Amino acid sequence: MSRKKRIATNSMVTTAKRCRKKFVWRYVHELVPASKAKAPSFGSLFHDFMRGLMMNGLDTDLAPLSQAWRRRMIEDAAVHVEQVRAMLGFEDDAILPATEEKCDAIAKDATALAEYYRDSVLVPEQGRYRVIWAEQNFSVPLTTRGGRIHPTWRFNGRFDMVLQDLSTGRVVIRDYKTTTRMPADFATMVELDTQPIGYLYAGTYLWVRDRPEATAREVALNGAPDIGDDEPFWPTDLGRPEGFELEVIRKKVPREPPLLKKGGLSKAQNVDTTHDLYLAAIHRHGLNPDDYADVLARLKARGPAFHFRSQVNLGKQEIIRWAEETRMCLEDLRVLELHPERAYRADPMTCQNQYGRRCEYHTLCYGDEEIARADFVKREKHSELKDDDE
Ligand code: SF4
Repeated sequence: MSRKKRIATNSMVTTAKRCRKKFVWRYVHELVPASKAKAPSFGSLFHDFMRGLMMNGLDTDLAPLSQAWRRRMIEDAAVHVEQVRAMLGFEDDAILPATEEKCDAIAKDATALAEYYRDSVLVPEQGRYRVIWAEQNFSVPLTTRGGRIHPTWRFNGRFDMVLQDLSTGRVVIRDYKTTTRMPADFATMVELDTQPIGYLYAGTYLWVRDRPEATAREVALNGAPDIGDDEPFWPTDLGRPEGFELEVIRKKVPREPPLLKKGGLSKAQNVDTTHDLYLAAIHRHGLNPDDYADVLARLKARGPAFHFRSQVNLGKQEIIRWAEETRMCLEDLRVLELHPERAYRADPMTCQNQYGRRCEYHTLCYGDEEIARADFVKREKHSELKDDDE
């Protein structure tokens, strides 16, 4: 008799490591704030654009992708209206018009951003990458204490993209992140997350499992091929994933500095520009770069202001350690699923995340739980793998 599989995701494990109480709110009681339950997100549309451009070519028309995304968001909002009615007993007339308005604003900004990213980053790299997968779900087993296939726990997630760099043959797992921060600062924060190592574990597992020359022992240790609809097959001509690539893109499209009426370019610090754009403007207006040496030096020292590609390379031992720690964490979480009342709260210092945002469950933990519950709706755990969220 086969045992029922249990699913872990990166966001579930990181949530639990951060705060057991938060794990219980989200993954045992399955609560999310009603305000963000089905809110359209910038990242979901941007991911659709990236998939279209990378899979179908850089001349892909973005408008139909945007319209299809908008239709999905409106359908989701209609489901959310029903959920609110069922849980809270009233009709929230504001949800649909607010969703439409938000979709239009996101579509405008995301289209402008995708076009600028396409022209400034993808066009110069055209032909460099082979896309193996885009937006591909995976489900791989975790390991037991002895390093064998775990009979119960699987690690699920979604690769934004798996690419082969044709100039080097190197295979990388790429994850797109859009941010309002400076891209390099943001990358430093994300690198501390366990997503890179968890996704490298998944990619390495698939590579080992699907190699034609895999030995009987390797197959025994890594699982016989079991390829369902959701189970990607690692192409036999492809090497192992060698790194995790964070493709960080700032949400603000940079501009050339304005030309002042008195002549010359603005040197104002609040002009959203980059070193290259500023230099291009100097040359286009026939100005002398020496007159702008201070601004150019400042922009260069600031680092990339729009796009930053960060490589996260991790060794075999780190991946094995992650698998071990994840297994131990999951065993502990099983107790909380059976006895949620045993969950302890995080130190209040950690009730604010690394981006400075207060935990969304704060009112449940520190306010009147019964009153605060009215602001939450049920949402199936791991729903992020079904939606097109960031
Ligand atoms: S408010 Fe603090 S204690 Fe409560 S779930 Fe969030 S992080 Fe945990």
